[in-house]
Amino acid sequence: MTERLTSAASARVSAVRDAFRAGTTKPLAWRLRQLGALRRMLVEQGDALEGALATDLAKSPTESQMSEIGVVMGEIDNTIRHLRRWLRPKRVSVPLAVAPATARVVREPLGVVLVIGPWNYPVQLALVPLAGALAAGNAVVLKPSELAPATSALLARLLPHYLDPSAIAVIEGGVEETTELLTEKFDHIFFTGNARVGRIVAKAAAEHLTPVTLELGGKSPVYVHEDADPVSTADRLVFGKFLNAGQTCVAPDYVLATPETARRLLPHLRDAVTRLYGNNPQASRDFGRIVNDRQFARLSGLLHGVRPDIGGRTDPTTRYIEPTIVDGVGLDSPLMREEIFGPILPIVHVSGADHAIEVISTREKPLALYLFTTSRALVRRFLRDTSSGAFGVSIPAAHLLVPGLPFGGVGESGIGRYHGEFSIDTFSHSKAVLSKPSRPDTLKLIYPPFTAKRDAFIRLFIARTGHRRESER
Ligand code: NAD
Repeated sequence: MTERLTSAASARVSAVRDAFRAGTTKPLAWRLRQLGALRRMLVEQGDALEGALATDLAKSPTESQMSEIGVVMGEIDNTIRHLRRWLRPKRVSVPLAVAPATARVVREPLGVVLVIGPWNYPVQLALVPLAGALAAGNAVVLKPSELAPATSALLARLLPHYLDPSAIAVIEGGVEETTELLTEKFDHIFFTGNARVGRIVAKAAAEHLTPVTLELGGKSPVYVHEDADPVSTADRLVFGKFLNAGQTCVAPDYVLATPETARRLLPHLRDAVTRLYGNNPQASRDFGRIVNDRQFARLSGLLHGVRPDIGGRTDPTTRYIEPTIVDGVGLDSPLMREEIFGPILPIVHVSGADHAIEVISTREKPLALYLFTTSRALVRRFLRDTSSGAFGVSIPAAHLLVPGLPFGGVGESGIGRYHGEFSIDTFSHSKAVLSKPSRPDTLKLIYPPFTAKRDAFIRLFIARTGHRRESER
């Protein structure tokens, strides 16, 4: 079985590599055609995609449009609009020592890119990297997550129909198939998922010296300062946290606030949950479900012995976990040990902004950090004294909708970034190109033999140009 799978996967990787070698993927027209076709697929197959997402995650059709299909379309439109400019070679100035000459940075495609997608946004997090890799002129092997099986099967059926199947392959499967796939040589691996698997991917990539992008997760903190407007803060926190039933990599993981701020915020959080999901969120069409029994058991376990201030009910038959908020959670609580990745929001009491910064900066660097305040000075302090993949002031999660911003983590939350032109950077090699006319041959001045005269000239030149650089500063 494994052998058959291996040879089948190998054959498909070789086939897309052949397409890359033949130059199929390089012309701008081909790239734009693929992006256009991918966009058409999103429009024509919107119902089918919404259906698959409802099957896998009980996502509402509106949420699927907003947070999956719409995000991919936004990225594609922005890329189509700017691709020609992004791919233009960039002229850079040459120092006197090399002049006269012209220097350019030319972006070239890497080759065959492997994209490994996760289950939580199985359309967005498969297709945005795919679009970036194609825009940069690569052939692609896409491995969607087996934990979102309806979406995985749909992508495997649709993509070869819309895109050039000679250069784009979809290979379905779980751990066994992905392990086999990782023995192949790729030119870049783009992985989204948890840090444990990220390490496995990075080790496999190291065997071939393949560069990786690791889009990982972690506990993204929120600090609510006392000056934050409690109504909009509560609304935005509830929306950002309970979207996709909390299974969002950039969801607020926990809130830091003084006991007084938390006390003022709680009734507004309760109101916001009711406003967004009704008195009984289980009956709301807009609130999702936990992806599988294993994740449900893990999340239910986190609630053992906990007395929530809001929510807390669960139903294993439908894998429902009510939007749940727990105030006054200790830093040593199980809720604070791992990324929650579900609809449970702990509030941890701190003495103020300094204490919040200390809590955040003594933990692993998160994928995102959110600060709710009206104080610009506090924003500056957080920016200076904390490190995170992204930083949102009074708005969680929405930075990923801005294609001009890089999306990615730092430290334990990831390696590399994408979206917009950052995707082109990630999926290209920036080649240094220097071109010097044969005349005048100024280089003659520095060729050996290094006579005393020539040595003096070189020393004077270095001193002068060094001096000039100093005065330019
Ligand atoms: P997942 O279980 O779907 O795994 C991701 C991919 O890794 C899948 O395609 C899976 O088949 C593959 N995989 C799993 N085990 C493997 C193994 N042993 N060897 C090789 N491949 C393997 O997704 P997940 O990891 O459960 O996703 C949740 C995590 O992902 C969270 O930590 C979340 O924060 C993070 N995440 C990050 C982002 C981001 O953009 N930074 C987005 C979504 C999720």
